[in-house]
Amino acid sequence: MKTLLLPGSDPATPEIAAKIIRQGGLVAIPTETVYGLGANGLDEQAVARIFEAKGRPQDNPLILHVAEPTEMEKFCHSIPNASYTLAEKFWPGPLTMVLPARDIVPRRTTGGLSTVAVRCPDNDTTREIIRLSGVPIAAPSANLSGKPSTTTAQHVLHDHDGRIQAIVDGGPCRVGVESTIVDLTESRPRLLRPGGITPEQLIEVLGDLVIDKAVTAQIDKDAVVKAPGMKYRHYAPEEPVVIVSGSREQAAAYIHRHFVPGDRVLCFAEELPLYVGCNPLAYGSEADVNTLSAGLFAALRELDDPSIHQVYARCPVGGGVAYAVQNRLKKAAAFHIVNPEEES
Ligand code: AMP
Ligand code: MG
Repeated sequence: MKTLLLPGSDPATPEIAAKIIRQGGLVAIPTETVYGLGANGLDEQAVARIFEAKGRPQDNPLILHVAEPTEMEKFCHSIPNASYTLAEKFWPGPLTMVLPARDIVPRRTTGGLSTVAVRCPDNDTTREIIRLSGVPIAAPSANLSGKPSTTTAQHVLHDHDGRIQAIVDGGPCRVGVESTIVDLTESRPRLLRPGGITPEQLIEVLGDLVIDKAVTAQIDKDAVVKAPGMKYRHYAPEEPVVIVSGSREQAAAYIHRHFVPGDRVLCFAEELPLYVGCNPLAYGSEADVNTLSAGLFAALRELDDPSIHQVYARCPVGGGVAYAVQNRLKKAAAFHIVNPEEES
């Protein structure tokens, strides 16, 4: 199959992409978070093709993308008032809500769950494609399962050239990490995945937020979790990643002590001068956490090279968007973190 690369700025693109979706095909769509691998979310066979193309485990649910916030009512029931407030405040935007699913949503889309994740993405081209399709677009991140997420059309082409019908090129993603996921089906709201909408922003609206264990620790592969997808290894490049915590100077001293040829350093732009000779790669500036979230996955992809022996990574501290960057880096490192102060 020839994969079409459709420019997001071309006025003909939304209808070409929508037609493929209506026919049950796969289209990679740009969003403000990452590129999604989209299909008609109400068509079981189309959804099955997403799992096949990604090599994604069948019990890992997808997110339904809608063009307008009010559309969540078509696919969810028992919607709490808080969801409407969140939608008003943060949609279109990088927030996904988990709500009870209506029967119209196939179980293949929800990974067999009775709940469904919905989001209205902040990308005009993609919302137009959804509108013209006349159906919600189910889409996980467009990477191959287990690989770092896709934040450019070129990343998607690399993973899926010849295996999907089309890629809509909307340029690099602004946020760069996947959406914040909040589960609103229990008595207390629960953060399942941090992202561009921060825990602080959610608490301001909800007054309460439980942080799920999957956010802060590795989940055992046999564990029973709210969303089965939470237990799978994620975002990982080929070689081991270890996060080195501590101050700039402590971390640099630790890395220089342990560095051997074949290792790489993933750091902040401000730290590049400290790693001359260590083949450093900066993923953004520590002074602007948005550049770190926007650059993280492209950097992890660049480091996804079997000839690399070990990656030493620097991670931002604090809340806000830094919390989402920490979560993705910790997952890439399988929660392997060293504190230079503790080295004897
Ligand atoms: P991705 O953005 O590729 O990670 O895929 C969507 C993610 O959304 C899944 O991995 C789940 O963690 C989450 N998700 C989707 N549907 C549900 C649901 N019904 N309940 C909880 N989490 C969900
Ligand atoms: Mg993903």
